[in-house]
Amino acid sequence: MRIGICGAGVGGLSTAVGLLSLGHEVVVFERAPDIRTTGAGFNLWPNAGRAIHGLGLRKQYEDISVNLDRYIELDTEGVELFSTDTSGWPETYGAPAVGLFRPELARMLGDAVGLDNIRFDHELTSVENKGESAVCSFTNGESFEGDVIIGADGINSNVRELLIGGVTFRPSELYAYRFRSVIDLSDVDIDPAAQTGFYARDGWLSFIPIGKGKAYWFGSVSGANTFEDFIDFFRSWTKTPIPKTLTNTPPELLVQSPLQDVDGVPYKWTHGRIVLIGDAAHPMMPDMAQGASQTFVDAFAIREAFAKADDVDQALMDFETNRRDVANAVVKISQKGLFLGPNDVDPLAIRYQNEIEPLTE
Ligand SMILES: Cc1cc2nc3c(=O)[nH]c(=O)nc-3n(C[C@H](O)[C@H](O)[C@H](O)COP(=O)(O)OP(=O)(O)OC[C@H]3O[C@@H](n4cnc5c(N)ncnc54)[C@H](O)[C@@H]3O)c2cc1C
Repeated sequence: MRIGICGAGVGGLSTAVGLLSLGHEVVVFERAPDIRTTGAGFNLWPNAGRAIHGLGLRKQYEDISVNLDRYIELDTEGVELFSTDTSGWPETYGAPAVGLFRPELARMLGDAVGLDNIRFDHELTSVENKGESAVCSFTNGESFEGDVIIGADGINSNVRELLIGGVTFRPSELYAYRFRSVIDLSDVDIDPAAQTGFYARDGWLSFIPIGKGKAYWFGSVSGANTFEDFIDFFRSWTKTPIPKTLTNTPPELLVQSPLQDVDGVPYKWTHGRIVLIGDAAHPMMPDMAQGASQTFVDAFAIREAFAKADDVDQALMDFETNRRDVANAVVKISQKGLFLGPNDVDPLAIRYQNEIEPLTE
């Protein structure tokens, strides 16, 4: 089969790995000129790990990730509010929770797909079904016809917009922005094998080690729309490593992302021979750190559907039936916010165990 994938992010590349392993001809089209080399850290959960193992990338994944053996939450004075041992998760859930450096994940996936199978500087502008095939075209004037076209073009997906539109976003009710950056682990007094978060009702900041002597921090503050507001909020938290960390963060390494909540998810993912995966299919808030994890689960599920089904249409239907309700449940779970926030939910590790794992068959 000949398959075109729009988007060389987490979803497009991991889906390509799975479909190439089945012997299909796969071409990934990416609007950027290269594999993503920017970004800070990523927190992936056991459900992502199981999918990545299933895609045959276990060794590469272990090489670039740090196992998070503990999950710790503290208050503004550095006093422990909650901690749990997650070192047994590989046995219990089949994979660890990990931290890693996002550009390394992109490189790992790009290497597994092979640069020959990726066309950069290809921005998709149209996509259309043609009975037993689908055709897409790009701003550079080229076009591609395949048995299937996969829209893996992220939260603001053009493929989704062209097919159905209808997904609208509104600013998050809790926090407008998330700030994050990479730091040297030696500059901060935190457990090098733990996710360590500091929480108050109106703001929080968490550290995750990502290997090679580095960690990343990420956090949000209600009402903080600039990095100066963000730093101000934490200025009095002098018994925590946060004020020093923020002062030492070079402005050029700071990433500031607006947080947008979805008003409605796509009512279906498969449209003839065109299918949505990843953030295009289930745009979600980052609070459960499940966006990429769910996207890896999609990639493995679509591989399994193509491996088992008798024909293409059946495979697409099986994939969507297997994944859509679960992913939409995670979208809703991710809208509730974080520990000590206005919605008063449990710490993230507990929510992963109680709310996300049970969604796995
Ligand atoms: C602040 C923040 C923190 C996050 N942290 C985590 C975390 O710790 N753990 C986690 O699991 N998830 C996290 N996420 C979510 C995660 O980043 C996404 O869920 C994940 O990247 C989705 O993968 P994707 O492949 O669907 O989309 P993307 O990774 O966004 O990839 C889409 C790709 O498509 C390309 N593209 C877009 N439009 C076109 C077009 N028209 N033509 C061609 N190419 C196109 C883009 O350039 C991009 O390369 C976070 C998100 C945010 C905003």
